[in-house]
Amino acid sequence: MVKEDPLAFRFDCGAIWLNLLATQGRTFGAHPVERLATPGRLAEWLERCELTPARPPDDDDLRLARALRETLRPLALATVDHLPPPASAVAELAAFLAGHDDPIRLSADGRLRREPPRSTADALARIARQAVDQMTGADRFALRSCPEQDCRGVFVDPPGRRRWCPSPACASRGRVRALRARRTAAAAGTDAAAPDAQNSPAPDA
Ligand SMILES: [Zn+2]
Repeated sequence: MVKEDPLAFRFDCGAIWLNLLATQGRTFGAHPVERLATPGRLAEWLERCELTPARPPDDDDLRLARALRETLRPLALATVDHLPPPASAVAELAAFLAGHDDPIRLSADGRLRREPPRSTADALARIARQAVDQMTGADRFALRSCPEQDCRGVFVDPPGRRRWCPSPACASRGRVRALRARRTAAAAGTDAAAPDAQNSPAPDA
């Protein structure tokens, strides 16, 4: 099995706002993994995204980041599944964006740059706008969600080739389950006379 640090941030989902969703792991399982545990971790995450705010994040900022993440999540899943989005999440996102106007100020200091966000809320507003652009434009067709039922992580996959999210643990678990299902089906097919014995999967090693 693949070993990975469950608390490590994921930066491989294909967009910053999707990486924000992935700051919680196993969201739909019995024990979700919170990777944004402290304001310091949020500061670290924003720095990795090159969105370090002028003021370091505090507890309120951490609550805001998690709240935005859980507002975006059902919207992302509805987009992937071509379902109407939950009205409450739409209203929350609209209210957040209405309250956080973050004008774009550019400079060309060696390369094209945007002025750093003044606050964590401004940084989150940039991420929220990226999410809106991706979910409302043609890019939405490249969004997929992980079939692992405790994960359902959303990621970008324009060719539509990936089955699982980029977490190696999901692909690994999914493949083991698929293999077991194929073996069970094969066993049932070759010995139809004793289906009860043959249909039971072997106990886990
Ligand atoms: Zn997954």
